Amino acid sequence: MLNTTTIDKFKAGLRGELIQRSDPQYEEARKLYNAMIDKKPLMIARCADVADVISAVHFGRENNLLTAIRGGGHNGPGLGSCDDGLVIDLSLMNGVRVDPKNHTVRVEAGCTQGQVDHAAHAFGLAVPAGVVSSTGIAGLTLGGGHGYLARKFGLTIDNLLEADVVLADGSLVTASATQHPDLFWALRGGGGNFGVVTSFLYKAHPVSMVYGGPIFWELNDAPKVMKWYREFLPKASVDLSPFVHLGTIPAGEPFPENLRGKKTCALVICYTGPMEKAEEAVKPIRQQLPPPMLDLAGPLPFPALQGLFDPLLPKGMQWYWKADFVRDLPDRAIELHVEHMNKVPSELSIAHIYPIDGAVHKVGRQDTAWNCRDATWSMVICGIDPNPANAQALKTWAWEYWEALHPYNLKGAYLNFMMEEGEERIRATYGDNYGRLAAVKTKYDPANFFRVNQNIKPA
Ligand SMILES: Cc1cc2nc3c(=O)[nH]c(=O)nc-3n(C[C@H](O)[C@H](O)[C@H](O)COP(=O)(O)OP(=O)(O)OC[C@H]3O[C@@H](n4cnc5c(N)ncnc54)[C@H](O)[C@@H]3O)c2cc1C
Repeated sequence: MLNTTTIDKFKAGLRGELIQRSDPQYEEARKLYNAMIDKKPLMIARCADVADVISAVHFGRENNLLTAIRGGGHNGPGLGSCDDGLVIDLSLMNGVRVDPKNHTVRVEAGCTQGQVDHAAHAFGLAVPAGVVSSTGIAGLTLGGGHGYLARKFGLTIDNLLEADVVLADGSLVTASATQHPDLFWALRGGGGNFGVVTSFLYKAHPVSMVYGGPIFWELNDAPKVMKWYREFLPKASVDLSPFVHLGTIPAGEPFPENLRGKKTCALVICYTGPMEKAEEAVKPIRQQLPPPMLDLAGPLPFPALQGLFDPLLPKGMQWYWKADFVRDLPDRAIELHVEHMNKVPSELSIAHIYPIDGAVHKVGRQDTAWNCRDATWSMVICGIDPNPANAQALKTWAWEYWEALHPYNLKGAYLNFMMEEGEERIRATYGDNYGRLAAVKTKYDPANFFRVNQNIKPA
């Protein structure tokens, strides 16, 4: 049992705040993005700076507290929090500093992706990350990070230059290609296993106005669209990144009333080449496929594209995720996608198939901890609904859908799209990088203090 004096001393030393169960802000502070996960930590240390993080790590370790690290709190299985332990919440640490000359961006670990996009856009730059701006940049980066810019510039980790990390013993180190290179290797895909990252330094790229958005067809057209897409993608310029969206046309603007509620297959595109060539680049999609039922693609600033899904996906809904890496999309797999999407349990539930080819394939399997460089796509099935009463239906649908597709997919999945699925899945995902990850874990966190994550056990 922790005594009040110990807690008070810890609290008094923080620049940020310590939120305990008796505090009025506790209920709000413990909420995660995924409302299906309901964790009740003993306390939440909202750190204001690196000194607070160091102090929180010492406090957690010395008092034997299960300790979780929270970046954006977006993780599917809620690995940014824990029951009855300490949460190191980084949300107050959200500074971004862009170096327009060197095309780098220094990002504190509590930032959302939208905060990074906003800051970099002012200088005509972007850091490759995901496709929903409310996602935490920290968890996303440490798991790999893929989005519209991956085909052209690689994963988020392929653009990571260095990271400041508070280790389990409370010391702060910088990991980069030249400093603690073993740790730097492991951070690029190894998740939150090695310490609390307090800031990231990224390479940024000139991306400002893009041509993007979704083009929708009826779900009945999905076989035509997806078969065409699987042939088109490998030949397509990396300036164009289309991902497959299967779902339902949502109620509300900007969707025409007559289409709302219709099941759909869409290609969500982002073209980052010269704007005058955008229409030409998208032409094959518009000309070689059946006429779409709705075409919302056009020129827009990159952060606007990144924020496109935000209004549909506010915090506080029920989410259940199942995922796999995919190399080929055989006809039977496409049929199964359509079959299961026809049984979708809610309007917001979706399946996405994201390309991870192009620049992602230029990095070797052993160059970073992220092993699945030979996959072509990252597939995710998400059961999503605001109503907690539908939680079981979302899970059942996602599982049945995934079980049908899994035989056509690779063994591992993108860790950031997994629920808590056990050690075998984690090992399958890391493949022959697992042993090296376990060795790095043993060196930097031998007692497995950081274990609220997709855990890599010390050797
Ligand atoms: C709506 C939505 C859209 C998404 N879209 C994409 C996408 O397009 N591309 C993509 O790649 N991913 C995407 N994701 C997945 C996302 O990458 C993961 O959910 C990720 O875990 C979110 O990071 P976070 O910081 O918000 O997570 P949190 O819940 O805060 O933390 C998740 C994990 O990361 C670790 N962690 C967090 N911060 C730190 C830190 N500073 N130091 C050490 N460990 C830390 C924690 O230990 C925990 O295990 C999406 C998720 C959602 C909910």
